[in-house]
Amino acid sequence: MTLPTHADIVVIGGGIIGCSTAYHLARDHKADVVLLEQGKLTSGSTWHAAGLVGQLRSSASITRVLKYSVDLYKRLDAETGLATGWKMTGCLRLATNQDRWTEFRRLATTAKSFGMDMQLISPAEVKAMWPLMETSDLVGASWLPTDGQASPSDITQSLAKGARMNGAKLFEEVRVTGFAMKDGRITAVKTDKGEIACDKVVNCAGQWARQVGAMAGVNVPLQPVKHQYIITEKIDGLANDAPTIRDPDRRTYFKEEVGGLVMGGYEPNPQSWTTGDVPDDWQFKLFDDDWDHFEQHMSQAIARVPALEKAGVKQMINGPESFTPDGNFILGLAPECPNMFVGAGFNAFGIASGGGAGWVLAQWVVDGEAPLDLWVVDIRRFSSLHSDRDWVRDRTLEAYGRHYTIGFPHEEYESGRPRIVSPLYERLKAHNVVFGSKLGWERPNWFAPQGVEPRDIYSMGRQNWFGPVSDEHRHVREAVGIFDQSSFAKYELTGRDALRALDWICANDVNKPAGRLTYTQLLNTRGGIEADLTVARLAEEKFYIVTGTGFRTHDLAWISEHIGDGFDAKLIDVTEQFGTLSLMGPSARKVLQAVTKADVSNESFPFGHVREIAIAGHDVRALRVTYVGELGWELHAPIAAVGEVFDALMAAGAPFGIRPVGYRAMESLRLEKGYRAWGSDITPNDTPFEAGLGWAVKLRKNTDFLGRRALEKINGAALGKRLVAFTVDDADVVLLGRETILRDGVPVGYLTSGGYGYTVGQPIGYGYVRNADDVSDNFLAEGSYELVVAMEPVKARIHLEPLYDPAGARIKT
Ligand SMILES: Cc1cc2nc3c(=O)[nH]c(=O)nc-3n(C[C@H](O)[C@H](O)[C@H](O)COP(=O)(O)OP(=O)(O)OC[C@H]3O[C@@H](n4cnc5c(N)ncnc54)[C@H](O)[C@@H]3O)c2cc1C
Repeated sequence: MTLPTHADIVVIGGGIIGCSTAYHLARDHKADVVLLEQGKLTSGSTWHAAGLVGQLRSSASITRVLKYSVDLYKRLDAETGLATGWKMTGCLRLATNQDRWTEFRRLATTAKSFGMDMQLISPAEVKAMWPLMETSDLVGASWLPTDGQASPSDITQSLAKGARMNGAKLFEEVRVTGFAMKDGRITAVKTDKGEIACDKVVNCAGQWARQVGAMAGVNVPLQPVKHQYIITEKIDGLANDAPTIRDPDRRTYFKEEVGGLVMGGYEPNPQSWTTGDVPDDWQFKLFDDDWDHFEQHMSQAIARVPALEKAGVKQMINGPESFTPDGNFILGLAPECPNMFVGAGFNAFGIASGGGAGWVLAQWVVDGEAPLDLWVVDIRRFSSLHSDRDWVRDRTLEAYGRHYTIGFPHEEYESGRPRIVSPLYERLKAHNVVFGSKLGWERPNWFAPQGVEPRDIYSMGRQNWFGPVSDEHRHVREAVGIFDQSSFAKYELTGRDALRALDWICANDVNKPAGRLTYTQLLNTRGGIEADLTVARLAEEKFYIVTGTGFRTHDLAWISEHIGDGFDAKLIDVTEQFGTLSLMGPSARKVLQAVTKADVSNESFPFGHVREIAIAGHDVRALRVTYVGELGWELHAPIAAVGEVFDALMAAGAPFGIRPVGYRAMESLRLEKGYRAWGSDITPNDTPFEAGLGWAVKLRKNTDFLGRRALEKINGAALGKRLVAFTVDDADVVLLGRETILRDGVPVGYLTSGGYGYTVGQPIGYGYVRNADDVSDNFLAEGSYELVVAMEPVKARIHLEPLYDPAGARIKT
């Protein structure tokens, strides 16, 4: 075996993900690709996977990725001659209580929204499908007939063969030991058998992906966790096409295998493996059986399938799998290295994801941008926080432990908190704050009134914060509130070519005089929305850019990558240098005027402007902008001054009834005003025209910008989908997002956001209405609408204008 000296793309890892990526690179893109595996193909986590293949996730794009896997596994043997073991057995999910049943009703609605036919069935129907099951405690089950199971090693070998058939070169027993780098880019992959010069690297090294990434300075935040299942001897009466079962209330899953059962589970007390490096020589290896730990699953499984008690156990599998802090896998271009892509951290659904993940990752590698909205799995959702291995382990174990718990809306993680706090942390506590966390930051979600315990009590219906948040909301509409938004991500772009860079990167026109703000989208080459942020021109050659807390790494990397070569434009992250207080409400001006000598009248300080003003002896960047639909300012103060600025505002605001307000009220306020949230309402799948943001695109100017060509092609053409608002008259309906939109009884889309508007006194949802011919105003107006909420259709009204739009709170300039 001789390694080539050069390859365009080197894929590291011969598990299902590496093989699928190599297969798609070779088959779809005719790429010059080499795959390196340190042991044998499948010898990492892949060979010992149980092989359940489920498809439904809460993200439409990830569901699409998983559906793609199933389609591929069905037909791959015809292409390669190697079977995948695919069996479409369907999957039953069991519910034993009302909250779980509500969760399933919502899940089945989500499935329908994503074009999958999930049904809800009775315990008697479950019994008929799976006679060996004890069903007396069941409320019911969900049934997804298109799920199934497959043989992990067979799929991988079939993908490997398909990759070779299309020209990829796969090498076993070759270990990657490092990278040659120049100017932060990888120029060659070093191995124990020689060096391969290359243009791009794809890190699919499974639980080793963290250490392989580290060799190039890339952080892949995953944690190997021990995961166990048993395989039993044959069980009489078990059909060989028995559906797979997920029994979340008993934390277990089942799959038929050669007449016996595979049974495993997700325990609340998972066992992590090392936080150090994973040994290189861990090929086809398992941990010792741990019956003491497994007993919790065994007793629950026997209660569900009594025949298990007498069934002999053929084998126990106790293997490591990489899990991540939020239960989603890790895909895409690493922010730290411009030519390392990652596909790792598959949270025990790597077999289900493998086909589709390889498809989208290959496309991403070739194009340099994700082919669809993959934000929930994007490696850029992490930050430097995620290089703390102990933090990653603790959060990952919490996420693992929650795998089968009931998913209540608005749930927050508890581990590793508090991690990053704003200077107002203690002050807000004195106001009975209930914090949430975002990218490590503690952020005020709501404030408990006197006598109310400051904590979330989760439930499927209205939760305990509904009343207090209603008061906060009203306060902002009628008086003035102050939001601690210090966690906002903030960057500065300076230099002679800063404007030229932003002209290209931003869809809206940022070429305005110093002192002006621009709300803009950043588009990809398809015209899809990659980011949504505010750009403040502080000086001729200095811009201050503000974006959402969670998008810090993503937006910084996107901007940085698209600054032209040789440009004099320096981008720095100043998030921790400034804290942000948003002063919002009809009395905001009076409060602000009371703490500064600067003239903050509408004439001197109009909407869409930025000024440096002094408050409490500190220079503060004041941005006249709003996300809540009221008069207001974002006040960006040096971090050390935030406490004093807050105190000054609270004191000056006392006569106007100022009070701190949290993120839950902000969500309600922005839903009423119709501001879009990136990641849900607007994503890389959506263009500004579809999102109703065409007004923020500078097509009338001659300036070229990223995404312009794509938009020019569709400008003025019929739109296949459009984002609109809905309200529901029944105030008790709980909207969460992903509810199906029916127009004249026909599904036309689903909600991207759902919540409650306290001023309008109604549940509010946003979603894209689709129609291949054209979603014209007439088409929208002529329909009669319902939303399917937890499988129940409820009457809804459509709105093409903001639901609440007081004078003076414009965002358009
Ligand atoms: C007990 C158990 C049950 C599971 N059940 C299911 C299930 O039912 N359904 C499901 O969908 N998923 C399941 N999974 C998860 C599934 O096994 C994994 O998600 C999947 O195999 C991950 O594939 P991978 O390619 O990312 O990693 P791996 O299969 O681990 O592949 C990574 C490869 O990279 C190689 N490598 C590492 N470092 C280097 C280097 N320096 N140089 C060269 N090569 C290197 C390794 O040798 C390894 O072969 C289960 C996992 C476990 C542990």
